Amino acid sequence: MACKCGKGEIYFARNYEGTKLCKSCFVRSIEKKVKRIIRLNNLLERNDKIAIALSGGKDSTTVAYIINQIVRQRRDMSMFAISIDEGTGKYREMTIKKSAMLCKKLGISHHIYSFKDELGSSLPELMKSNPRLNACTYCGVLRRDLLNRKARELGATKMAFGFNLNDEAESVFMNFVFGNLDKFLRLGPIVSNKKIKKFIPRLKPLREIPEEELYAYCDALKLPYYKRKKCPYGKESVRKTIRTYIYDLEEKYPGTLFQIVKFADVIIPPLKEHFQKSGEIKYCTICNEPSSQEVCKACILLRENKKDKLR
Ligand code: SF4
Ligand code: ZN
Repeated sequence: MACKCGKGEIYFARNYEGTKLCKSCFVRSIEKKVKRIIRLNNLLERNDKIAIALSGGKDSTTVAYIINQIVRQRRDMSMFAISIDEGTGKYREMTIKKSAMLCKKLGISHHIYSFKDELGSSLPELMKSNPRLNACTYCGVLRRDLLNRKARELGATKMAFGFNLNDEAESVFMNFVFGNLDKFLRLGPIVSNKKIKKFIPRLKPLREIPEEELYAYCDALKLPYYKRKKCPYGKESVRKTIRTYIYDLEEKYPGTLFQIVKFADVIIPPLKEHFQKSGEIKYCTICNEPSSQEVCKACILLRENKKDKLR
């Protein structure tokens, strides 16, 4: 059976809408969906300088590639990529190598920052001094903080991330299960707060694209991305338990992931009106970065390791 275009052979057996597509129709369908999310949510505007948080995996590779298609046609926009090296050895070396290859292919600048140089310690060193903590807790908080700081220093107006449909559904479910209303209300295609000048708005243009379609997209275009070994530090986590559970639901009831995200999109705006505190804008008393508390999470973690003096 041929694709609906009547030309190509089937490349992707069944996309999320249940359609069988040839390679070029499949690639076009992903780009169309991502550009639609960007357009409907005004993710990109005139004079934007977009930082891509480039991890070297399929998701951020796709974001960089599609945003580059848009930026190339606009004189009033520019982009660059930032990668963070947590010091996790071979795995990170390989992802950074792939990221560099992609940036070269796209003709965009690539900025690499390491935990060791910027924070004084690599992730393995931080873990040694506090082995009770989950590596992903350190890594997530410190990486987000560093990305925001560096993107701002490099003049970015927005920062794009590769969160896909699976990631977003997991986040909705996690915040629901743990009753984390504040974090739940911050979900959506753009996370921004105009009152916090130091916070670079975060874009999630892939939040409606399932993970397996992103692998297929990068493979179809032969984009350089790292797909073999996973990070050696990503062991058991709550997110993994939630992931197993909702993927099981998706398997039994196709469309579950999409429904979870869409349901959140419907209830977040009215909930925001009722529950979101206007809240005083705070800046960390140690590093002066935006924070919901007196001392930001990154500084709390570093202080626990007696590293705050190095920031
Ligand atoms: Fe960091 Fe955890 Fe991701 Fe590894 S799996 S890169 S430790 S957040
Ligand atoms: Zn701080």
